[in-house]
Amino acid sequence: MEYAELVGVYDRLADTDSNHEKRDILAETFAEAGELLPIVVKLVRGRLFAAHQREELGVSSSLTLEAISKSTGVAESDLRDQWRETGDLGDVAAWAVDNQTQQTLFSDSLTVERVHDVLREITTFEGDGSQQRRIGEIAGLLADADPNEARYIVRTALGHMRVGIGEGTIRDAIAVAFLDGSDEAIDAVERAYQVTNDYRVVARTARDEGRSGLADLDIELFRPVQVMLAEKGESLDGALADAVADGEAICEVKYDGARVQIHKDGEEIRLFTRRLEDITEQFPDVVAAVRAGVTAESAILDGELVGYTPETVESDARRPVPFQRFSQRIKREDGVEAMAREVPVVVHLFDCLYDGETLIETPFRTRMERLDGSFEDVSVAPDELRAGLEHSRTVQAAVEVGEEAETVEPPEAVTKLYQDALDAGHEGLMIKNPAATYQPGTRVGRMLKIKPTMEPLDLVVSRAIYSEGRRSDWLGRLYLACYDESADEFREVGRLSTGYTDEELDDLTDRLEELIVSQDGRAVELRPEVVLEVEYEEIQESEEYDSGYALRFPRFLRRRETLDPDDADTLDRVERLYDEQ
Ligand code: AMP
Repeated sequence: MEYAELVGVYDRLADTDSNHEKRDILAETFAEAGELLPIVVKLVRGRLFAAHQREELGVSSSLTLEAISKSTGVAESDLRDQWRETGDLGDVAAWAVDNQTQQTLFSDSLTVERVHDVLREITTFEGDGSQQRRIGEIAGLLADADPNEARYIVRTALGHMRVGIGEGTIRDAIAVAFLDGSDEAIDAVERAYQVTNDYRVVARTARDEGRSGLADLDIELFRPVQVMLAEKGESLDGALADAVADGEAICEVKYDGARVQIHKDGEEIRLFTRRLEDITEQFPDVVAAVRAGVTAESAILDGELVGYTPETVESDARRPVPFQRFSQRIKREDGVEAMAREVPVVVHLFDCLYDGETLIETPFRTRMERLDGSFEDVSVAPDELRAGLEHSRTVQAAVEVGEEAETVEPPEAVTKLYQDALDAGHEGLMIKNPAATYQPGTRVGRMLKIKPTMEPLDLVVSRAIYSEGRRSDWLGRLYLACYDESADEFREVGRLSTGYTDEELDDLTDRLEELIVSQDGRAVELRPEVVLEVEYEEIQESEEYDSGYALRFPRFLRRRETLDPDDADTLDRVERLYDEQ
């Protein structure tokens, strides 16, 4: 397939605001893609890998500028001027190809396969000279590209297509292209995606095997499943009323660590985060605990990894370390073992998705029993590099919902669990519906979280400004945005400039500078990727920001590295909090 054809599709997608039209354009493209279907499904969103394949393209803005300059002969300073004006490196590439000073003598035509293969290949470059090789490969593609092709090659390399396609549109397009496009067909595609996490597999199966093929897709060991998410309960009694089934709700301690999905098959064990990153290498102590404690031959277990202070971890009064400290274990690549002794962890297991048989359609009550049947407790032993393994602290509460009000009096055992959880330094409670199935990737009333104070918000950094004076090298003034689900866009809700230490700000600046899309003086536009947790005094209505709201006195609490931008708090939630003040 000629790359120009795909570029034509991008243009048509960018030209319409209608989700319906976008869906139909995609459906037509998928239907005609033939054997290239898996590649096209990924490329329309500018993704080159499945969600759990976390290869990094390693392409930064400055590398892209060098590649454009190399292939077109246009000076980098001119490219930067252009970038400042347009704010998009794709447009800069198109402009540069149009105005190039060096003509290529003969050019090969660009195919979709070639663009895809080259961009995938550059992820494998390592070590000395890998940057130069990346630049060379991208420049090679640009040398054979017309302006419009250049635009999309660069956008794909940077992972930002600007054609307004969300996951929902891909899902609907698959249902229209290969099934009958009905609500049931969409549900079938959605479910298949939740268990496989890979639209390439879903699209191919829908086309070749229809709806029954999709229904046969199942979770597989070592292919991480999207985790089920929690909703915020507004109060303990309300959450109990929402989660009750047959007069019972299950209440658990909500720990503040990192979600871990454990896959085990015989001797092989792998650990994945909530974002489906593989963290097996960082946690040899957890692998040892799983080996010692998980008795099921094969299993997928869900739990929370929590770091405790080494002095207290072996006692009954363990104290969790601050999340910042624990998160160093996730990032650590060298000295993993020393770090494991400094921050010993316990895995608090709370769900079982597979124990030789898929359990995601099975009620939670049964899954809990299957969980208990698939492992034995392991006590933590930092000296032996072994983590702890235990069931999360749980109370099964009998709950009577009154005839009139949808609220209940929390049983004493529940209020005690809540108090104990807070006293022990944990976050609060999880209230779970015992009859609920495991719904990968969704946040529906099957588990509700309860925390004590007015909740901080998780917000995405959309723009930033360098500070003045002593901190002038740092991006100290950050615009924060919430996620508008209906438009699949981020809407700003305020500007943050306090609460961080110098060290935190330094780290944050390093990360944000990688995401700069354009710069105007001291102000930069950013790819919306970094999520921060912030507290604030109140929410006001405001015309200053496009959300219509502004946070009063926002303060930085921490970076939420385990969250994707679309896990950020939503505009709906900001509105609800505003109404409730
Ligand atoms: P939040 O990240 O605030 O949306 O809260 C949901 C997260 O709480 C889950 O993704 C888990 O990582 C974590 N968590 C801690 N304890 C539990 C528990 N007992 N059950 C389920 N999730 C828990």
